[in-house]
Amino acid sequence: MTAGAGRMGLTSPPFLQLGTHVSIRGGLALALERGEVLGCGSVQIFSHSSRTWAAPVISEQEIRAFVSRHRESSVGPVLMHASYLVNAATSDPDKRRKSAAALREDWLLANRLGVYGLVLHPGSAAGQTDPAAISRSAEMVRETVDLATGGSTRLLLENTAGGGRTLGRDPETMKHLVDQVNRPEKVGLCLDSCHLLAAGAEIRTPLSYEKVVSAWSGAAGTAGIRAWHLNDALFERGSGRDRHAHIGKGAIGLWFFWKLLEDPRFRGVPMVLETPKTDDIREDRLNLAILKRLSRQETFRPDDPEIVDCLAELETVA
Ligand SMILES: [Zn+2]
Ligand SMILES: [Zn+2]
Repeated sequence: MTAGAGRMGLTSPPFLQLGTHVSIRGGLALALERGEVLGCGSVQIFSHSSRTWAAPVISEQEIRAFVSRHRESSVGPVLMHASYLVNAATSDPDKRRKSAAALREDWLLANRLGVYGLVLHPGSAAGQTDPAAISRSAEMVRETVDLATGGSTRLLLENTAGGGRTLGRDPETMKHLVDQVNRPEKVGLCLDSCHLLAAGAEIRTPLSYEKVVSAWSGAAGTAGIRAWHLNDALFERGSGRDRHAHIGKGAIGLWFFWKLLEDPRFRGVPMVLETPKTDDIREDRLNLAILKRLSRQETFRPDDPEIVDCLAELETVA
């Protein structure tokens, strides 16, 4: 038996937590089915359209259907992404009221569904200083997670690509935010690989990978890095542009993903794709196949025929 096989036999294989963002079209429970078809160990969903304020009321029946389906599902932890419209840092009273209400709805729903983590971008500092924006964002996050729900969802703050005045492009800002929220048992970080590179972090060599991961782990403190978004980056390091690419097809390349999948600090941590896809799920299948293959490699082998085939097939999709 190889050392790798032994390790896999003793602990749950890291790919069990691998998954992708799935649609809730037709009902929340169908998201789980979509994840199962793809062999996902975790999935991410939106509670409703990510770009409108109007949230349809989700019926008691639909919530119950999701919870009971999840109990029997091979899909483990579920992430829910909060609406992109929520700006927890805004100083505009009207936008603040709307943001707080939308975030509260998502938080309550996530807890009722038994969602593992509600992912939130920390907000934009436009029109104010960074420290003021951080305080405002921390206040809204704290007020949200302090709502009694009886659930165990964590609110996961996501690092950003660094465009405009968005908060969360660097570990220092995130540390201030996490510290000010001061609820390490209710929050955590969700790191997006594309956003790391876009915001200027070098994650493609062993030494720099370690530096970056240590810095972000330090920022998270006991709140922890609780989830990953696995996306390659369409643009070069430091672009500030939030454009995701297929795994191995962007500026990040395969090595980082291999390294992350074998990093014992993230064993069991949900990792979901947010890579481009059409209605077809072929793209998801290919990206997941590459990640699963990498997760089984004891040493990095980008020339693995299965990976080479998947990369070639990704050439043919949108
Ligand atoms: Zn993301
Ligand atoms: Zn992104």
